[in-house]
Amino acid sequence: MTHKLAVLPGDGIGPDIVREACKVLEVLRADFGLDVAWEEAPVGGTAYDQTGHPLPDTTLELAKSADAVLLGAVGGPQWDNLDYTLRPERVALLGLRKELDLFANLRPAKVFPELVDASALRPEVAEGIDIMVVRELTSGIYFGEPRGVEELPDGRRKGLNSLVYTSDEIERIARVAFEIARKRSGRVCSVDKANVLEVSQLWRDVVSHVGQREFPDVELSHMYVDNAAMQLVRDPKQFDVMVTTNMFGDILSDEASMLTGSIGLLPSASLSAEGAGMYEPIHGSAPDIAGIGKANPLATILSTAMMLRYSLDEIELADRIERAVGQVLADGLRTPDIAGEGERAIGTAEMGDAVVAAL
Ligand code: ATP
Ligand code: MG
Repeated sequence: MTHKLAVLPGDGIGPDIVREACKVLEVLRADFGLDVAWEEAPVGGTAYDQTGHPLPDTTLELAKSADAVLLGAVGGPQWDNLDYTLRPERVALLGLRKELDLFANLRPAKVFPELVDASALRPEVAEGIDIMVVRELTSGIYFGEPRGVEELPDGRRKGLNSLVYTSDEIERIARVAFEIARKRSGRVCSVDKANVLEVSQLWRDVVSHVGQREFPDVELSHMYVDNAAMQLVRDPKQFDVMVTTNMFGDILSDEASMLTGSIGLLPSASLSAEGAGMYEPIHGSAPDIAGIGKANPLATILSTAMMLRYSLDEIELADRIERAVGQVLADGLRTPDIAGEGERAIGTAEMGDAVVAAL
């Protein structure tokens, strides 16, 4: 059956990098038998300019009917003064997450052997880092009720957010983490704050229970979030899969990705219960380099590999893309963001062409 994709280039460098990812898909279709078809639609500030809304109904319908969504990036300074209810990042990204029920955010942080020097860590600490952070995306303190700011009778104001998880929400994110661990080194570290928060103790109990009952072959450990933040910098190689709540995952996944030192190289996936998912680079729309051929397309190309792996079940082709990216890096090809001092850099399209050639 033909895999149906929604391709949403978005704003800033979004169109530049998505174009290169589509080249890769085109080759997989022409030369490797990938049965795939895709349709493009506007999203973000670009969509706002065209239609008055950052997530037009037609775009949302296309995304909903697709097996997977490939997204570039959204937002930019020209839309920063829009009303909160029309801000591209908020409306488009949160809207897609909510409408597609994307509850699991996967953020790999991997140091390619050729780019060990890009990491801020000492080479012997950075070399071999390969972590997958699994972040719960649709619940927790960002969504919990009650919330708000209220006036107190004595004139003070009180701000309030609620950290809420139900056992079914914890179970489903835990299963995602355990499944992924099975395909990697078979270790999960669950991160919480169970020494202080009741909801964290529930988290710990439920994750343990799912592990014992359904994944006895996966090694499970628990860590407090403050310690995890420290251990990520001290000895990141101790981690394989990390699973955690929405807010802790927001923070830890950014921390983990910065260990690698190459924002232009890191993909992400957001998965729904049905297997459909959305795939995008972790970086933003980088308006400072939009449209001038300087953006690194590798994060988006690697996001395409994640799409093949997690939504389309084309594992061999996903491996093939990842090997091709490793190959171009080993060949010394660098966009400006990852070029060392004095090293020659190539452009966005040249990098895409190099991956195609390596395929
Ligand atoms: P957002 O809030 O959308 O994350 P941001 O401004 O915080 O946006 P980015 O848009 O990711 O962050 O840009 C941060 C810096 O990294 C910029 O200087 C940008 O040029 C650079 N950058 C981001 N993505 C890439 C890329 N793919 N290739 C090269 N440089 C990039
Ligand atoms: Mg940012």
